[in-house]
Amino acid sequence: MKKVSRRKFLKASAAVGAAAASSGFAQEFFSRPSSVLGPARGNRVVIIGGGWGGISTARHLRRKNPNIEVVLIEKNPAFMSCPMSNLYLGGVKDLDFLVFDYTNVVKAGVTFVNERAIEVNRAGRYVRTTSGIIFYNYLVVSPGIDYMYEAIQGYSEVKQFLPVGFKPFEHIALKRQLDNFEGGDLVLAIPRPPYRCPPGPYERAAMLAYYLKTNQIKGKVIVLDANPGPISKAPGFTAAFNDLYKDYIQYIPQAEVTAIDYAKKTVKTSLGEFQFDLANIIPPMKAGEIVRTAGLGDRWANVQLPTFLSERDDRVYVIGDVMGNVPYPKSGQVAYNDGKIVAEHIAQRIAGKKLAEIPNPLPDNICYSFVNSEESIWVSHKHNWDAAARQVRQQSTVDNQRSKQNGGLALEWARGLWGDMFGPET
Ligand SMILES: Cc1cc2nc3c(=O)[nH]c(=O)nc-3n(C[C@H](O)[C@H](O)[C@H](O)COP(=O)(O)OP(=O)(O)OC[C@H]3O[C@@H](n4cnc5c(N)ncnc54)[C@H](O)[C@@H]3O)c2cc1C
Repeated sequence: MKKVSRRKFLKASAAVGAAAASSGFAQEFFSRPSSVLGPARGNRVVIIGGGWGGISTARHLRRKNPNIEVVLIEKNPAFMSCPMSNLYLGGVKDLDFLVFDYTNVVKAGVTFVNERAIEVNRAGRYVRTTSGIIFYNYLVVSPGIDYMYEAIQGYSEVKQFLPVGFKPFEHIALKRQLDNFEGGDLVLAIPRPPYRCPPGPYERAAMLAYYLKTNQIKGKVIVLDANPGPISKAPGFTAAFNDLYKDYIQYIPQAEVTAIDYAKKTVKTSLGEFQFDLANIIPPMKAGEIVRTAGLGDRWANVQLPTFLSERDDRVYVIGDVMGNVPYPKSGQVAYNDGKIVAEHIAQRIAGKKLAEIPNPLPDNICYSFVNSEESIWVSHKHNWDAAARQVRQQSTVDNQRSKQNGGLALEWARGLWGDMFGPET
């Protein structure tokens, strides 16, 4: 599996070229501009978004049927994993640990288009990118999330100073701010669901406190939670906050941030005003913009349950964090499983099966959260289709007891999925 070094990454577009060259790929063949693709030769599946859902779809489609032409449109030149990114912020792992290039995805026969998708014409069955148009037989939409800055007064105007770190690569700016933080109040604000990775902000609170504690920085993480308590693994996080970080975390529930005054370094909440020296304000979220541009939904995209087909179009699948009408957690594990299921679904349609004949498994989930450099807690979800009620039923299991054993399993989980998405075909 090829990793992108920190230095290479910081020269972002050079990173893909360098990685491609070092793996024997001439750069011009690594990313293909959409203008040179031409019409589909046979069955072409176009995927928007080279993250957890998109890569999983691409890799599994090529494994199911190498005759299917798979085109992956991704605006970033490399991939960064949000899962495990709180270890990077906490100073436990380097950025290299989280960043991968698309070399083996291309070697597996996927056409990689390093461009932004700007329009989906569903009547004409094509995607317009920054350099041309790409026709599809089937389209998979997995662009992840966008932020609703507009929900917090004054945020849009100052967002360049306040990296959120809930989308790939924003963590680099946030980490730099943390490295320069000399002490004081570090405000971390958590929105109401639905947002990407329900336990992610609480894991972040723990790892920021870990960073302050281990670096002996005189400061406090002030967690302003819009919710009445942690919305995931509450006993595990509460125990970690109290046992490990009593002097480093102040957890304040029911404190929803409504406005930011960056000049005065204050946030307004439902419980009054708070001062900050450094702030990480996680705003409410919505599906990536292309979902709305494509007419697939408003805040989120709905699917025809129990499939991943868009409510609006039988040729279009929507997967990963963008789904609205499902109880699935917005997690990398779910997005990866969605991709696997959708790859099988499309392969069967291409093989001539009718929609009613194709089984519709549902994605399961497991999500680990670190609370220090070595110990983790986890929650898992099983999903079943209740045909009578026409609803997805969810059953969860949780381990709130932090342990090194769970920490080991968490790393194993990440390496396993990264290996499947970015490793060579065996
Ligand atoms: C701090 C944090 C911790 C997390 N921890 C975990 C964890 O432990 N376990 C877990 O399972 N999940 C975790 N997650 C959640 C996980 O990261 C997401 O659920 C997952 O990334 C969703 O996959 P996706 O394919 O929907 O979106 P993404 O992985 O974000 O992929 C979307 C891709 O689409 C691209 N894109 C968007 N719009 C366009 C466009 N118009 N044109 C071209 N490209 C576009 C983006 O650049 C991006 O690469 C965590 C998230 C965060 C923020």
